[in-house]
Amino acid sequence: MQTETFSYNDEQFADLQMLRYRVDGFESLSLAQKKLIYYLSEAALSGRDILWDQNGKYNLRIRKTLEAVYTLYDGPRDSRDFAAFTTYMKRVWFSNGIHHHYGCDKFQPGFSEDFFRKAVGQLPPDSLPLDAGQTPEGLCDMLVPVLFDPAVMPKRVNQADGEDLLQTSACNYYGPDVTQAEAENFYAAMKKADDPQPVMYGMNSRLVKRGGRLEELVWKAGGLYGAAIDRITYWLEKAAATAENERQAAVLRKLIEFYRTGDLKTFDEYTILWVQETEAQVDFTNGFTETYGDPLGLKASWEGYANFKDLEATARTEKLSANAQWFEDHSPVDARFKKTDCKGVSAKVIKAAILGGDLYPASAIGINLPNSNWVRAAYGSKSVTIGNLTDAYNKAAHGNGFQQEFVIDAETQQLLDRYQDTCDDLHTDLHECLGHGSGRLLPGVDPDALKAYGATIEEARADLFGLYYLADPKLVELGLTPDAEAYKAQYYGYMMNGLLTQMVRIEPGKDIEEAHMRNRALIARWAYEQGAAEKVAELVEREGKTYIRINHYDRLRQLFGDLLREIQRIKSEGDYAAARDLVERYGVKVDPVLHHEILERYRALHLSPYKGFINPVYTPVYGADHEITDVRVEYGETYDAQMLRYSRDYATLPYNNE
Ligand code: ZN
Repeated sequence: MQTETFSYNDEQFADLQMLRYRVDGFESLSLAQKKLIYYLSEAALSGRDILWDQNGKYNLRIRKTLEAVYTLYDGPRDSRDFAAFTTYMKRVWFSNGIHHHYGCDKFQPGFSEDFFRKAVGQLPPDSLPLDAGQTPEGLCDMLVPVLFDPAVMPKRVNQADGEDLLQTSACNYYGPDVTQAEAENFYAAMKKADDPQPVMYGMNSRLVKRGGRLEELVWKAGGLYGAAIDRITYWLEKAAATAENERQAAVLRKLIEFYRTGDLKTFDEYTILWVQETEAQVDFTNGFTETYGDPLGLKASWEGYANFKDLEATARTEKLSANAQWFEDHSPVDARFKKTDCKGVSAKVIKAAILGGDLYPASAIGINLPNSNWVRAAYGSKSVTIGNLTDAYNKAAHGNGFQQEFVIDAETQQLLDRYQDTCDDLHTDLHECLGHGSGRLLPGVDPDALKAYGATIEEARADLFGLYYLADPKLVELGLTPDAEAYKAQYYGYMMNGLLTQMVRIEPGKDIEEAHMRNRALIARWAYEQGAAEKVAELVEREGKTYIRINHYDRLRQLFGDLLREIQRIKSEGDYAAARDLVERYGVKVDPVLHHEILERYRALHLSPYKGFINPVYTPVYGADHEITDVRVEYGETYDAQMLRYSRDYATLPYNNE
């Protein structure tokens, strides 16, 4: 028997650091639970190709071509071109496509077009994704502009105000000739006035033009992505037969029904069943979920993961949930926008067992679902903090020099050392368990009224709810924070990140695009500006380096409360103009001089701004009658081996999905 030495940090390339996460506690689950997790992880991996195709219409073809070069190339592997090619391959894997997973810009290959053409030309044609009658040269002619020309498909999701967001986005949710105005009108016409239970129109389809008419190609069995969906439902059926309880089996059967019909009413029924099933220890997400990848915020990218409850840590979030109405009642928000019957958000700390689709390899650490506003209002939502991923981040970041560079002084550093891990977890809990679930829309307000600004405003709402309450004596009373000083660590870290350090994720000359980042910039800059006269927070310069100093933490809390009040008003009233004004004013632009300084300081640390995870490997052990007698979990697989295995074993879709 070998002892496995476990390292959280794995390989580093481009702006990426690969991490490993542990699934401690898996071994002590029951055999039935282990089998359930195994089936759910197969289901979570089976939808991988869907996301690749959603992210761009050439992605599957490109992946197959690049992987053929990566594995079969017989030229010099120590050449500069091949090294650059390897980095590019790894970045494409990481992003599930040719655009940056976070910034959305297309990668520029570091190898030459000539190298690419020659490398592809020497491969056996049957290793390439060729259309009928297509030659390897023809394939190169098709792919070269997509890979190399910066003007072709430059952004996966374009959010630039004033442009046609569909025509300028490379994501594959709309046909190439569908304009933003056409899509907006198409979906506006579907909405029925005063429908109290609107389905999430357009969520599970590609909108295309056929013979001049708009038409939805629905993602379902027998429809677009049908082959992948069949594989997913195959595993979900096995999971349903192994479910922990009858309710969970019903959840899985309803999800299978949705995948078969594509009916969005069925989807709502499924999410209602799912949100009400809180007894089982094992849980999952599988399906079309988040809409960040669509510039209009309608189309949902595919994701899947399996998890099980961390019983000890969950006691923490249950305390928050049990007090949900107290938090709602005492928030600084106008009474008209508060919920009077706050359905306790079921909140739990979980361990991720597998990450798939849009959660792999880059993953969220807190998730709150479902996304349907009326379902949330009527049935509440399920909220999770993924404890073993947070743990991996913390372990990997320990002592890497980042805070020493950007934190202003030793005293503040001590504050962070003492409280930040606790406060970070708690802020995530508050954001997910209470923040997203709080507040209500005024009757008749369109949930999509904030359009492209909706996601940023929603994240700001949840973050502010968490920030405001982190400083509340109630948390000390509940035993969640050790004392009345702890929140200051989170306030410092949040302001430092929003004003300064999150800029390390932005390339020089670019705007902030991603909703969570826009939200953090918005909150930090707004509070900084509003508190400027009283010097609540100051930017100070020392030896050419900019730092943030917070002088009045108590006043900063009031400012967070003021902004929460305004953001909730914007959301509740659907005030598009105010949302746009706030986001554009505080959340989008970066100061180029400050940006340059931060990037230089960061570069000197040799750290990667983005991180992602290598999955563990689950292997069933079979008994004499071919029944599963155990499931083993192992951590040894390398990044490229995992990606190549997934491409081989979970290749469910053709190259051209139309
Ligand atoms: Zn959120």
